[in-house]
Amino acid sequence: ATPMSIMIATGRGAQEGVLIKDAEALERFARVDTLIVDKTGTLTEGKPRLTDVVALGGIKEARLLQLAASLERGSEHPLAEAIVSGAGERGIELSDVTDFEARTGKGVVGKAGGTVVALGNAAMMDDLDMDITPLAEQVRLLRDEGKTVMFVVIDQDLAGFVAVADRIKATTAAAIKALHEHGLKIIMATGDNERTARAVGKSLGIDEVRADILPEGKKALVDELRGKGAVVAMAGDGVNDAPALAAADVGIAMGTGADVAMESAGLTLVKGDLTGIVRARRLAMATMRNIR
Ligand code: ADP
Ligand code: MG
Repeated sequence: ATPMSIMIATGRGAQEGVLIKDAEALERFARVDTLIVDKTGTLTEGKPRLTDVVALGGIKEARLLQLAASLERGSEHPLAEAIVSGAGERGIELSDVTDFEARTGKGVVGKAGGTVVALGNAAMMDDLDMDITPLAEQVRLLRDEGKTVMFVVIDQDLAGFVAVADRIKATTAAAIKALHEHGLKIIMATGDNERTARAVGKSLGIDEVRADILPEGKKALVDELRGKGAVVAMAGDGVNDAPALAAADVGIAMGTGADVAMESAGLTLVKGDLTGIVRARRLAMATMRNIR
């Protein structure tokens, strides 16, 4: 494209909330055929709400939630906020926590009021040698509704689980339709489990779902697809997403996210939803068309 047409596109993009780093980013984005998006915060609101609390055997549900929420006060993960708010809405008072530790992509551990508590996904339970099969059926049903389940371990015993649900953004379905019309294949990458991810992916007509992805796995996915000849755009918001954004043909930083994500990106969207990606694609196609 000519410097003039790039300048015009950059100006129009800025008005529409799409910040374009340079001419190459725009040119490459016109050639992208595969888009990788995060589930949480991109397709969904990113503000999950507590929906279920299930306690096993002797323990009371209120106690399980009290311990889980106390621990999660130390985490900044949206799932943690859902659990803390859920406890607050139920009038539960939280305990002080010591020895807190967050395990990226898995969960949290620590001591709440002297009790050892761990909370997280199946990989976390695996690390702790916890057998979750007694809960398998109940958990499966909730995941098929698109809910995220987090297991709770109290004093080395599996004590139950909590579940949260994150609403799909109002703009997501229409944006996916538009991106499909642009010929893009859409892949959802998430640290969430397979079953939950599939339920969400299916309801949205996502082409491919990659679940149980640890943060460093997103870069591997980008490399894999590029290795197969795809021209890949990757949208993400987290600090952890920066390597994958940098590895993609076009990295798209969802503007609500971390500064380091923006530094690695060719495109930055001021708002964190897919509509910005549709606008960016229209702009890229229009700009490239002008020069041919
Ligand atoms: P995503 O951004 O796709 O939701 P994450 O890597 O942030 O993925 O998290 C992956 C999974 O790890 C979550 O679905 C959850 O099961 C578990 N997890 C991460 N952080 C926490 C936390 N603070 N408390 C409980 N579980 C967590
Ligand atoms: Mg995330």
